[in-house]
Amino acid sequence: MKDQLGRTIDYMRISVTDRCNLRCVYCMPAGGIRKIPHGDVLTFEEICRVAAAAALIGIEKIKITGGEPLVRKNIAELIRGVKQLEGIKKVTLTTNGLLFSEMAEQLAEAGLDAVNFSLDTLDADRYEAITRARALDKVLDAVDLAVRMGLPAKINCVPMKNHNLGDLTGLAGLAKERPLSVRFIEMMPIGLGRNFETVGSEFVLRRIAAAFGEPVASARAVGNGPALYYEFPGFKGSVGFISAMTGEFCGACNRVRLTSDGRLMPCLCNQKSLDLKSDLRNGLPQTELSGKMASFIAAKPRRHNLSEPKGNGAEEKHMVQIGG
Ligand code: SAM
Ligand code: SF4
Repeated sequence: MKDQLGRTIDYMRISVTDRCNLRCVYCMPAGGIRKIPHGDVLTFEEICRVAAAAALIGIEKIKITGGEPLVRKNIAELIRGVKQLEGIKKVTLTTNGLLFSEMAEQLAEAGLDAVNFSLDTLDADRYEAITRARALDKVLDAVDLAVRMGLPAKINCVPMKNHNLGDLTGLAGLAKERPLSVRFIEMMPIGLGRNFETVGSEFVLRRIAAAFGEPVASARAVGNGPALYYEFPGFKGSVGFISAMTGEFCGACNRVRLTSDGRLMPCLCNQKSLDLKSDLRNGLPQTELSGKMASFIAAKPRRHNLSEPKGNGAEEKHMVQIGG
């Protein structure tokens, strides 16, 4: 479908949990968050009903996210269910990778089309400082397993001063030997992200170019969204940039979100949401659900309000609660 500004909306990010087995400093407080009660989290059957209603209005690609999606029990069964829905062409996953290796086979068998791993550093101590867990090897093993399996893989890194600026070229270098995309995502001032200064994509691009040579902007579209990709000399994979703060980001936005407690959010960075859980639990017929979703999505805001002061309608939850 098109929204009020003519943007094609064909991509839905579905958060399946607000729980996580890491505590990344920009996403989750050390002591965790007040969790959504289990009874308020959508069941797989309810998520599939929303995804089917979304497919009726033109959603073709689904990303399973969280919190950490792999901590939700039987997640492969949800992937299988969503993948089988009429109109859904691609189901992908974004994960911190800790549980990926042990689940990889069942995820692939369920029909998973691609996987994104979040990885901000290649140094075990810095990994622990950022995520509060000593688990770098697990993530690196998971990335290599996905590549060996032929599952399209991306690595997502959020550059942060005083944390990982020394790792950016090393991370980009993962795409030299491997056919994967390494993407740098500008820190957004959401939740704990407000405590960090955004490191702009241009800075990161210059630093990587200084190490690997001048890149060529890629004509190839890789993935679902507004990332810009570059090819570096001799690289098997590519390097991408998601410039949520410094770039023209919203004009090409094609996505909506579903939170784990069933709220439809047309924009990550705006508090406006539509409660679908009540409709699902009150037995609203599928076509009416679709219609309601379409009207709400049509009014998707022109742009995010992240640059505005707190309290101006900007989303005030943590990323782990919204579903990044
Ligand atoms: N746990 C999974 C993971 O880490 O991939 C999925 C959820 S996580 C919230 C999704 C992505 O959001 C991660 O790549 C994370 O780095 C990113 N993220 C979290 N907080 C952010 C912020 N304030 N600005 C930009 N990206 C953020
Ligand atoms: Fe968990 Fe992902 Fe947030 Fe890190 S970024 S705390 S892995 S949800």
